[in-house]
Parts: sequence; C-alpha cells; structure tokens
Amino acid sequence: MQTIAIVGLGLIGGSLGLDFSRLGYRVLGVARRPETVAMALKRGVIHQGSTDLSLVAEADGVFLCTPIDRVIEIAQQVVPHLKAEAILTDVSSVKGALVPGLTALWPHFIGGHPMAGKAEAGLAVAEAHLFRGRPYVLTPTADTVPQDLDAMAGLVDQLEARRYCCSPQEHDQAVAWISHLPVMVSSSLIQACQQEPKPELRQLAQALASSGFYDTSRVGGGVPELGTLMARYNREALLSSIALYQRQLGQIRALVEVEDWDGLHHFLAQTQAARPAYVDDAL
Ligand code: NAP
Repeated sequence: MQTIAIVGLGLIGGSLGLDFSRLGYRVLGVARRPETVAMALKRGVIHQGSTDLSLVAEADGVFLCTPIDRVIEIAQQVVPHLKAEAILTDVSSVKGALVPGLTALWPHFIGGHPMAGKAEAGLAVAEAHLFRGRPYVLTPTADTVPQDLDAMAGLVDQLEARRYCCSPQEHDQAVAWISHLPVMVSSSLIQACQQEPKPELRQLAQALASSGFYDTSRVGGGVPELGTLMARYNREALLSSIALYQRQLGQIRALVEVEDWDGLHHFLAQTQAARPAYVDDAL
C-alpha cells in the first residue's frame, strides 16, 4: 500500500493523516469545507486535498472518518471512484449498524475503530501518535478477504496501536460498557450537580471541584454530537448497560440508606480490585 485517502479531516482523520504522512505514505484528504483542506495541507496532514470525493480514485486504502450518520451516504459516493482492489475502512465508534451496509457496498471493506479520543473535535486538535498504545479494533466478517485483513492489521501495527479483532456485535456491547455508558454516567453526574437548588452552594461546589471531579466529568463534557450519535446507533447495547448500571447505583443507595457500612466497604473493595483490569494508570 502506497497511497492512503482520508475522507473527513477532523480529530480522527487528521490524526491518521499526520501519522500516515510521518510513516512515508502518500496521503490524500477529502473534506467538506475548502478551509479544512487548506488547514490540512498547511499542517502537513495530507499531501494533496480536495472537497471532491473523486480524489480517492488514486488510493490503495480509504479511511472514512466522517461523523457516524454520514458514513453510509459518503461510502455510496466513494465506491464508484475506488480502484478494484482498494481497501475501504471506517473509524466509527459503532459497528453493528454500519458494517453490514458497508460490506454490501464494497467487497474490500473492513470495519475499524481506533479507541483514542479527546473532549474537543476538529482538525485543529488532531495530533500525531494519537493512537500509540491505544486499542484499535477491527471487525472482520465471514465475507472479509483475508489479505485485506492482513493489510489493515499491518497499518494498525504501524500506528503502534494495540490491535484487536472481534465481531461488530461484540464490539458494540463492549464499547457500550466502557465508552458509551461512561458518557451518559458522566453527563448525568454533571446534570445532577446542576440540580443543586441553592445557587451559592452550586458556585461553591464549582469552586471546590478538583481532580476527582475532573476525571469523572471529562467524557460528560465532550461534544454532544458524538454522544448523541453513539446512543442513536448503539441504542440496544447502551440500554442494557444503563439498566445494569442503574441496578448498581440502586444497590449503593440501599446500602447507604440502611447504613450498611460493611456492605458498602465490600462493594467499594470489589470495584477497587476490578478497576486495574480495565485501565492502566500509566496511560
Ligand atoms: P470531527 O473532529 O468532528 O471531524 C469530522 C470531520 O468530518 C470534519 O472534519 C468534517 O469536515 C467532516 N465531515 C462532516 N460531514 C461531512 C461530509 N458530509 N462530507 C465530508 N466530510 C464531512 O469528528 P471525529 O471526532 O474525528 O469523529 C469522526 C469519526 O471518528 C466518527 O465516526 C466517530 O465515531 C469516530 N471516532 C471518534 C472518536 C473521538 O473521540 N472523537 C474516537 C474514535 C472514533 P469539515 O471540517 O470540512 O466540516
């Protein structure tokens, strides 16, 4: 693979462009707005850019990096321009709602999800090495061409990401737990604080908020478009995660209500022991 095209030059598309340029690929970029193309050229994200999707005709691999609700429609416009053997992939945070439609559109499609993000969106916050050490999930299906999977795996490895393969459905339930549910939990936390009826107390809480609140509120303070699309396109998995989460919160409430401090200690000891399996404090 020599030439990579990126459609959608925002946080994820821009960061991929910076990395693939750094790795020596020729990178082509397609954005919706000419200003984004100009900024991508200026920042060295891409070698050549356009607002016209026909630019992808020269690419050996094409990454669709637009918002989730635009991916299928843009893929339909991209496919007529693709080289016969070009690999098509996406970076969307949901897979089950997209992979079947995209596979039907192009035989060399493989779903992907680089699990690295920021609270901000857009090309201005794109950065090189964003995916280093982070998970990058590929979701091949029974229709996937083995050589395409090998080529995608090679690209992911060059990004120094931690590569995983699973089905689109397994991906969606897993990310509902560790990505989509946390956005809803974190935003409910911020909303709950906002319900404090006394303005002076709310202001005091805002002034006293420190690292603990920073950590727990971060994903609830992200761009609303992304959270809304996650819920819309991963609704069932998210609903089942919310139901189990509510049960845990109910358990904590019951323990506190009856002043079962041993029970609460046991609950918190279990979560303290479980957390390292999910997160590496070195990250
Ligand atoms: P973003 O920063 O908002 O960038 C989206 C880009 O898509 C923008 O540059 C925008 O172009 C372009 N775009 C929007 N509509 C378009 C259209 N109709 N035609 C062509 N380009 C269009 O978003 P992002 O955070 O990079 O997210 C993009 C994808 O990555 C989403 O599918 C998301 O699920 C996935 N993802 C996001 C994260 C995260 O934390 N942000 C993490 C992993 C995966 P203009 O600049 O020209 O308007």
